[in-house]
Amino acid sequence: MSEQTSTRENFRRATVPDDNGFFGAYGGQFLPPQLEGPFAEITKAYHEIENDAAFINELRYIRTHFQGRPTPVYHARTLSLENGGAQIYLKREDLNHTGAHKLNHCMGEGLLAKYMGKKKLIAETGAGQHGVALATAAAHFGLECEIHMGEVDIAKQAPNVSRMQLLGATVVPVRHGLRTLKEAVDSAFEAYLADFENSIYCIGSVVGPHPFPMMVRDFQKVVGIEAREQFHEMTGNLPDVVEACVGGGSNAIGIFSAFLDDPVELIGVEPLGRGTAVGDNAATMTYGMPGVIHGFKCYLLQDEEGQPSPVYSCASGLDYPGVGPEHSHLKDTGRVRYVTASDEECRDAFFALSRKEGIIPALESAHAVAHALVTAREMGTGTVLVNLSGRGDKDMDYVIENWGIGQDS
Ligand SMILES: *Cc1c(COP(=O)(O)O)cnc(C)c1O
Repeated sequence: MSEQTSTRENFRRATVPDDNGFFGAYGGQFLPPQLEGPFAEITKAYHEIENDAAFINELRYIRTHFQGRPTPVYHARTLSLENGGAQIYLKREDLNHTGAHKLNHCMGEGLLAKYMGKKKLIAETGAGQHGVALATAAAHFGLECEIHMGEVDIAKQAPNVSRMQLLGATVVPVRHGLRTLKEAVDSAFEAYLADFENSIYCIGSVVGPHPFPMMVRDFQKVVGIEAREQFHEMTGNLPDVVEACVGGGSNAIGIFSAFLDDPVELIGVEPLGRGTAVGDNAATMTYGMPGVIHGFKCYLLQDEEGQPSPVYSCASGLDYPGVGPEHSHLKDTGRVRYVTASDEECRDAFFALSRKEGIIPALESAHAVAHALVTAREMGTGTVLVNLSGRGDKDMDYVIENWGIGQDS
């Protein structure tokens, strides 16, 4: 181990991943041979532009004038008071353009495509959130956009399909297998393979083959950089604890990355769904074992043959059987603690934040709030900063149908 340099230095030069895309034992590039070339091209282009002044300035301009950054940090006084414990603060990614953190990396990926001279963005989407964010980026940059989506998801997510189409994207229905996310991934990969000269494949979280876990993390770092500075300005201190929900892990790594070298406890919250049985949750780090999915190694919910297990959460953005390789590494090193919140705890936090603070959170983000309430009570005093990754407008139909609105908390 080399001697620790200053925080700032570490911050600029991340020590992971290595040149092959490994975060400790996790990550890498498990690709069909035909895709090795195209992914090497993306890696090379990213390393060229990541320190390029023109690229950085354009991304900064976009963040300020298109996305509306910086998003604020908000002291949830009433919620904290009623909860009776440590003070809870929220990093308001729900106020980012399109209502969630996902646009942070989609704009980065779109800008990279533009610098590489690509004409088209290709991706899959499950619930449609990544598809909408990417279609937004494509519209902004004047790029074509092709979103692969299972027929079952298309039927379930009609408003997001309309949004993508309104933004100019082509939604490609995937009609084989279970007609959901897994088939959509295969379909998007095939489309990219057939047209990698003109297009770029854009992954929706800190997952997939190298360089995506690194690139998406770097684009999401803005969340942590802003939050650390804002929190310090508000309180004169750093938070005692930082919490975020973990699906693939992009919003969590975005905020954690700024605090890795600080004496701050970091907690990732996974969905416990309906319970501990296989197929009832998506708590990858809690119940998974190392394995390979979608071209990279990570903690994985899997059967004896290494096939991904079925997963479930009321928050569709969290139900992925894998997780980012950097999170897998951070679990093994012990730097981040991974815990769970159930559908019920998510529901209670969803209503509490809506009623007490006038903020309707995404169901994904409500998982982080739910566990932060537990942490804050246990601590008694001190501060907890939560990454509020998105707003709950998209979840209103689900909430009303399943939980009603008359709940009094
Ligand atoms: C997609 C999504 C998530 C989960 O993705 P991560 O990569 O784990 O951040 C969390 N919150 C919101 C609002 C989302 O849309």
